[in-house]
Amino acid sequence: MSTLDKRLGQRFLPYGANYLDWSDMPELREVIEQQVLFRYQTETESMASRLERTVAERLGVGHALAVHNCTEALRLALISTRPAVGDLVHIPAVTFVAVAGAVLSCGLIPVLVDADDSLSMDPTLLPPDAQRVITAHMEGTVAPLPTGVPYLVEDCAQSLGARFPDGRYVGTAGYAGTFSFHHNKVLTSGEGGLVVTGADDAWATMRRYHDHGSARVPGQYPTWNDDAHFGENFVTSEQVAAVQCQQFRHLDELLAGLERMYAIAMAELPGRTDLEVLPRAVGDVKVSLRFRCESKELRNAAVAALTAAGIANWTLGKYLLPEHPVLTGRRSLYRDGFPWNHAPKGLLALSRDGFARTRDLLDRTLCLPLSPELAEKEQALVAKSVRQVLEAL
Ligand SMILES: *Cc1c(COP(=O)(O)O)cnc(C)c1O
Repeated sequence: MSTLDKRLGQRFLPYGANYLDWSDMPELREVIEQQVLFRYQTETESMASRLERTVAERLGVGHALAVHNCTEALRLALISTRPAVGDLVHIPAVTFVAVAGAVLSCGLIPVLVDADDSLSMDPTLLPPDAQRVITAHMEGTVAPLPTGVPYLVEDCAQSLGARFPDGRYVGTAGYAGTFSFHHNKVLTSGEGGLVVTGADDAWATMRRYHDHGSARVPGQYPTWNDDAHFGENFVTSEQVAAVQCQQFRHLDELLAGLERMYAIAMAELPGRTDLEVLPRAVGDVKVSLRFRCESKELRNAAVAALTAAGIANWTLGKYLLPEHPVLTGRRSLYRDGFPWNHAPKGLLALSRDGFARTRDLLDRTLCLPLSPELAEKEQALVAKSVRQVLEAL
């Protein structure tokens, strides 16, 4: 194995986990030296608050709240809208099941909305009176947004740093935006999540719920005011926030590394008409190359050949929620089936063709990671080896 093969082979997960280096952990050192791992232990600005301030300033949004993962962030965004049990939430038919899980665990009912050509949720399928919608910017792709939805949540778990054509960051256009620092995301702290919102009252509600429903003042025991309600404990830790602050410092470098490799790959890859790289929008985070193949057979042959050559790749069929057993089987741990026992009968889905076109697109799609941390020379070498494998098919 060449050094390059080894470096790529070792990257079990295609992106994320970059820049972790002892020489670059001053925030973590600071936290350990302070001897405080709980964010509300002291009155002074915690590492978690520093992270939230940094993220809010960078994204240009009023508030950010750090939690343990993006699933909790989605739950906070939903429950802060003060819904009734059984209310419908429109979600993408093509996304990670965490989105459906967040909806269900809040006692709400997911309605699966079919995808457009880019495999983002098609907002034209939404009913005009949709109250709660989660859209997901998958794999760095900027999804089109619906208009006039009172509670639009942008799930940006896979798209930190992506921008709309008008320059605003994804996550800042609707009621709330959610982010993940899971190992397999743009930046990582192993597990980690953030919710952002421009609405002061929404932020106050989320902050209360995430800390036992309390109105805690940092440095003090929590208190419960007249407006208190039950909550949970989603409060993050200082050492996790420290790693997130370190990761966040590298965001620009990471985005630039992805842009560079994307440009190299677009210039290098063959113009095969039966196996096309889909061009990405300017504001996308270029986490991957997306190929659309003429047939499922060709796609599967490409997967086999790339895998045999040690080149990381993945497909998107796993994201097709209308075929997910939890949703098709209306599974629940509750004896009465909660919250499905509050759901209308029949398939809760919006599609023009029973998802046939989406299934076909997913069957013919193939993704290759772009590696921001590789030097330009190495990125060119990777692009060349991808080209060789694809040309030989
Ligand atoms: C990863 C992911 C989530 C869940 O994020 P966690 O931080 O692992 O809870 C939600 N939505 C999408 C689209 C994801 O990719």
